[in-house]
Amino acid sequence: MNTDVVVVGAGVIGASIALELARAGRRVLVVDKAGGVGLGSTGASSAVIRFNFSTHAGVAASWEAQFCWRAWREHLGCDVEDPVRFERSGLALLDVDAAPRGAYLPLFDAVGVPYEEWDADTLAARIPGLDTGRYGPPKRLDDEDFWAEPAGTLGAVFTPDAGYISDPQLAAQNLAAAATRFGAEFRFRRTVVAVRSTGGRVVGVTLDDGTAVACPTVVNAAGPWSGRVNELAGVGADFTIGVRPMRQEVGYLRAPAGYNPEGAAGVTVADLDLGVYLRGEVDGGLLVGGTEPECDPLQWLDDPDAANPNPTPDVFEAQVTRAARRLTGLTVPNRPRGIAGVYDVADDWTPIYDRTDLDGFYVAMGTSGNQFKNAPLVGQLMAALIEGVESGIDHDTKPVRFVGVHTGEPIDLGAFSRRRSVNTANSGTVFG
Ligand SMILES: Cc1cc2nc3c(=O)[nH]c(=O)nc-3n(C[C@H](O)[C@H](O)[C@H](O)COP(=O)(O)OP(=O)(O)OC[C@H]3O[C@@H](n4cnc5c(N)ncnc54)[C@H](O)[C@@H]3O)c2cc1C
Repeated sequence: MNTDVVVVGAGVIGASIALELARAGRRVLVVDKAGGVGLGSTGASSAVIRFNFSTHAGVAASWEAQFCWRAWREHLGCDVEDPVRFERSGLALLDVDAAPRGAYLPLFDAVGVPYEEWDADTLAARIPGLDTGRYGPPKRLDDEDFWAEPAGTLGAVFTPDAGYISDPQLAAQNLAAAATRFGAEFRFRRTVVAVRSTGGRVVGVTLDDGTAVACPTVVNAAGPWSGRVNELAGVGADFTIGVRPMRQEVGYLRAPAGYNPEGAAGVTVADLDLGVYLRGEVDGGLLVGGTEPECDPLQWLDDPDAANPNPTPDVFEAQVTRAARRLTGLTVPNRPRGIAGVYDVADDWTPIYDRTDLDGFYVAMGTSGNQFKNAPLVGQLMAALIEGVESGIDHDTKPVRFVGVHTGEPIDLGAFSRRRSVNTANSGTVFG
């Protein structure tokens, strides 16, 4: 069989790319080794939509993408059966030395992201039950200083337009449904086992049942498996940025009374001081994730398929006990409940959206636990990139120009290059 483009991976990123390429009139085949859409990293995502990034491109991309989530039907370009909801909870980023206001507020100003600067009293008043103590840096539970008195108080920067998406897997399914309407095809339970090329140009892929698909363009959107798919294509030698899979857990429990207002979600809290993030739920729940504090071992993986999919007592207890220092009234359940997933972590926690030195082979990878929020935009970025490169633009020396449809803000695609200098402004955490 033959097609114009094969997208490897039907996560939220691959589905979004399929939608934009199909909408642009290309024949698209999406292949996924899993049994359906969004069963990789995407299904485990906390789906937080926020704008704190360390680069202009990062802030501009997340701000632009937020408008796509808010006007979801318009973004999809058609009705879908069960559209996801954007829950606008707002997000408070607590002050920490690792993310000083002076580093990111100028980016908010430049892009036009609205925000409020809160002192400790305002923080306490606006988030019921929140303890404003400065406890950092994060500590292990067996460290006797864990229970030490706070060394002062913290303020925060509040972004009212942040929030979360009601169901990350369903979001990917919505994108896939729309892509299908525009003619894209999806093939599940099939693994791409070879990327074929001739004379420095992609000519097709081979699937594990032996099917040979002829195509001039392949997009690697394989999430934590992206490094492996690059190996199949023989690319990577000129990458300055490496990627590695990392296991992550998110605990799920009931929020203390008052944190989630009736029928709404409480303010999401990004708490690098204690090493956790807290995300409320409209139904009264609370998600607690980690922010890679230095005191905790990072769970790097050689094989994403080997990741334990269940939450573990140690990580659950550590994350939820830290959360309970911040949210008074939160009790730590005896049994872990939640989800485990895998990040595709780039060296500088910034994604790679780029061409490669194999003509026709593109990558949308290294999403570093922070690109669910950008997924609707990533389809557009990749479609513009592919269109530009295939029409002769030398993207490596003069990056393809992209301007956000909603914001009119230019987004420098060079910031996501495989050959960029490492983004030294990054926080070394999921916050990018
Ligand atoms: C626990 C957790 C919490 C997160 N929280 C947030 C958050 O709050 N906000 C945010 O913005 N981001 C968050 N993220 C990150 C976000 O979810 C990911 O960046 C995003 O889902 C990546 O999507 P993807 O499509 O690239 O990858 P995936 O969803 O992993 O999809 C890749 C697909 O490729 C398929 N595949 C791989 N290899 C092959 C092959 N050879 N052949 C065929 N198919 C193949 C896999 O089966 C998989 O379905 C979180 C991630 C995790 C794990």
